[in-house]
Amino acid sequence: MPERSGAGKVALVTGSTAGIGRAMALALAAEGFSVVLNGRRAEAEAKAALSEVRSAGGDENSCIYARADVSLETGREALFEAVRARFGRLDVLVNNAGISTEGRRDMLDLTEEAMLRVLRTNLIGPFLLSSRFSDLLMNGEGARYMVNISSISAYLPSVNRADYCLSKAGMAMMTKLFAARLAPYGVRVFEIRPGIVRTDMTAPVAERYDRLIDAGLLPLGRWGEPGDVARALVAVVRGHHDYSTGEVINVDGGFQISRGAL
Ligand code: NAD
Repeated sequence: MPERSGAGKVALVTGSTAGIGRAMALALAAEGFSVVLNGRRAEAEAKAALSEVRSAGGDENSCIYARADVSLETGREALFEAVRARFGRLDVLVNNAGISTEGRRDMLDLTEEAMLRVLRTNLIGPFLLSSRFSDLLMNGEGARYMVNISSISAYLPSVNRADYCLSKAGMAMMTKLFAARLAPYGVRVFEIRPGIVRTDMTAPVAERYDRLIDAGLLPLGRWGEPGDVARALVAVVRGHHDYSTGEVINVDGGFQISRGAL
């Protein structure tokens, strides 16, 4: 059997007890990475994800859970310490944790507090977390990657989710900035841009999306699943995109080509 791409390496996926993050953590474990799961919940509530990822990796010691809120400096520091103390290295950082606009409200009614809540979680937190981990990434050996999970909202304006759109558009520039800064050290940086993916985040609007997809919104004609995003990540960590950095990978059923066709 060929050596798995993650053998002897460590990956951290933020917000990985559910949804897209959990699917990516599972895929990385199956690739042989030691995986650091992260979330805001107490460890007891992360047990199911932890044991699932450990089985995927085939090794009890290959996965730890680090409880931390990436929107807070104390949380980011705790996460860094957890990785440094347990593994002393990081080969793959996946900035996945994210939240949507609370209650979807018109952009003209957006408060500073609501905006800051989304920006701190989806942009400022991931930016500062990536800075904190940059030394470990830059000083490692072999292939190393940062992968930022943004959204079609990086370019598609939704006037009732302005804060979310701004945070994801910011993440697109964050990807280019880190790609430029870390390239001399051999660290590749990618933005994965999912479309409409079936998770807790989209559950409240699932019926609306069902109708839109039935009506032809997506060229590929179906919802995205967390595994679709995880497979795009696997292609990156296997090195299939190694002569690229700062690149966007759309995982959206063709959404970005459908605008003019409606
Ligand atoms: P989800 O709500 O199922 O998962 C998000 C996870 O992040 C949750 O486990 C949550 O607890 C965690 N999280 C939130 N804030 C955190 C914080 N401050 N610190 C640590 N963990 C935190 O949603 P998902 O759909 O799996 O979303 C994952 C990522 O994908 C998000 O960045 C989201 O914006 C993006 N995305 C999702 C979709 C979609 O259709 N579901 C589409 C495009 C992009």
